Amino acid sequence: VKSQGRNALCFFDPQMQIAISVRAQLEGDLQAALAARQFALHYQPQFHLDGRIVGAEALIRWIHPERGLIAPSAFIGVAEESELIVPMGHWVLRTACEQLAAWENDARYRHVPLSVNVSARQFRQRDFVARVVEVLRETGARPHLLKLELTESLVLDNVDDTIAKMGLLKTKGVRFSVDDFGTGYSSLAYLTRLPLDQLKIDQSFVRNLGVRHTDDVIVQTIIGMARNLELDVIAEGVETAQQKALLADYGCQLFQGYLLGMPGPVSELEVLLQQAATQ
Ligand code: C2E
Ligand code: CA
Ligand code: CA
Ligand code: CA
Repeated sequence: VKSQGRNALCFFDPQMQIAISVRAQLEGDLQAALAARQFALHYQPQFHLDGRIVGAEALIRWIHPERGLIAPSAFIGVAEESELIVPMGHWVLRTACEQLAAWENDARYRHVPLSVNVSARQFRQRDFVARVVEVLRETGARPHLLKLELTESLVLDNVDDTIAKMGLLKTKGVRFSVDDFGTGYSSLAYLTRLPLDQLKIDQSFVRNLGVRHTDDVIVQTIIGMARNLELDVIAEGVETAQQKALLADYGCQLFQGYLLGMPGPVSELEVLLQQAATQ
């Protein structure tokens, strides 16, 4: 009874009360920011071993009028816990598709696919597939240039719903990448049931390549799985030449990370693509 009393007291912990009100405040701010169009997409290039840019990942930024550029780690969690991630994710999807459509008439850009992150709550919406199809139709983006990044944990949770939705979008031409791969203990059996295009090796394994032997083993295993399933495999968080060299040794040919290119506004990505076009 006494320990119960302590727990009850914990519930009214003033610290926690502050945390709750900060969250509520942030949620309100995010809602206002969405209405005021304060979000932007930055794009991080993805490279082939041969130096070509093979795509880019869209990453959301909050351009705050007083505080400047705010990274998603400061607000995505709160957005995901509320329903806000749904309209926010929809805005991301639409903006990326508008970008694809805007590039359509320019030979330097029209082949560049964009990867878009999708949160669990957004993906589980009953009308998720319909919304994606609608955005593709309204923007005129070519579906095969849109790659949806679903985290490994999202994919594994409610596999039947995942398979149904992915299957429908797949018939439209949309591609899929499993983000943060290696963190969720996927079995080969599950993976074969999903219409996947790519596995994305989580940066937590890339970080310690050549340092922590178990991570080298995990990365080699993921690359082997991708090969057996005939999927692309891309490594994220590549920061050093040594990491890139080890990944290449293990058979990975696609890279994303600060070593090769930082996330930036679309104009920066376009400059990189122009340089590639004139090489
Ligand atoms: P993520 O999907 O795993 O994205 C990769 C993150 O790693 C990005 O952080 C990127 O800027 C960062 N990164 C890229 N290269 C390197 C590197 O070499 N080293 C290190 N240490 N980090 C690198 P960012 O942009 O801060 O995004 C953080 C997370 O926020 C993303 O992780 C993703 O889970 C989420 N996020 C970002 N944009 C969106 C979005 O539009 N929708 C949703 N649902 N989530 C998003
Ligand atoms: Ca991602
Ligand atoms: Ca990731
Ligand atoms: Ca991650």
